[in-house]
Amino acid sequence: MTFQASYHQIYAGGELRKRRDAALALLAECRVCPRGCKVNRLENEKGFCKTGRLAMVSSYNAHFGEERPLVGVGGSGTIFFTNCNLGCVFCQNYEISHHGDGVEVTAGQLAAMMVSLEKQGCHNINLVTPTHVVPQILEALPLAIDKGLTVPLVYNSSGYDRVETLELLDGIIDIYMPDFKFWDPDHARRYASAFDYPERARAALKEMQRQVGELVVNEQGLAERGLLVRHLVLPGGLEETREILKFIGEEISPATYVNVMDQYHPCGKAHSFIPLDRPLRQDEYQQALKMAYDAGLTRLDQRDFVELLHRLGFV
Ligand code: SF4
Repeated sequence: MTFQASYHQIYAGGELRKRRDAALALLAECRVCPRGCKVNRLENEKGFCKTGRLAMVSSYNAHFGEERPLVGVGGSGTIFFTNCNLGCVFCQNYEISHHGDGVEVTAGQLAAMMVSLEKQGCHNINLVTPTHVVPQILEALPLAIDKGLTVPLVYNSSGYDRVETLELLDGIIDIYMPDFKFWDPDHARRYASAFDYPERARAALKEMQRQVGELVVNEQGLAERGLLVRHLVLPGGLEETREILKFIGEEISPATYVNVMDQYHPCGKAHSFIPLDRPLRQDEYQQALKMAYDAGLTRLDQRDFVELLHRLGFV
């Protein structure tokens, strides 16, 4: 049977428009994300995420650098939203997330971007940094479906998501791809002004897993539905890496698809935050892979994961 993105069912029954309206209502005293700024974004007031009534987009294109199950031959259709509700000091897209690089788009324009990416051959619509613009995404989606959108949506967030907002996406998002960045609340406060990040991310991952379960891929190796978790290993951050991977293995599922990422390099204001002022060392990354193995995780994005650990003498 041909795969059909979940949102078609929700749309056909009229539920999608109700979810859109419920999400837009959150903007009146903004509670879209855990920061709960309570500004009136319907009147274009702006809170921590510096985003008013309209979403802002920095770029949209077919992207081939994402996880393999998202890319296939046609690429992942990324839409990079401007600004961020987390705002890490080391963000590699600092101009977009902190300095507002992008333009405001209407719901119709956002819908047209989604449809255009599918027409280019992209296998999914990859919503990058979507948390603060969930209402605007839900406003655009019915318009995109009317224009022929069929591919699944990927919710590619920092993990700093509010469960009540995620509940509005139940049956709409097929693929969740959150980061899990910090385990220590003091580090989350120091690096992202978000002391509650660890507890919010734990709750968000559980909700995402409840909605979509483990990652399902088709015969072509393309993701159709499920959860992928990203964890960027930070310099000097292995203790947090251990706890995060343990949590995923024990409280989400050992079969969770996890990308343990090694590409950290100092960006943004990272040079003022020791030890984030240096790149990740190779031995730190190798230890992180061993931690994933010890946590019982069996589905890492890294190719030949177990063979690699054998070569390094870890197992
Ligand atoms: S979405 Fe933006 S304005 Fe709303 S609560 Fe979050 S940071 Fe504040």
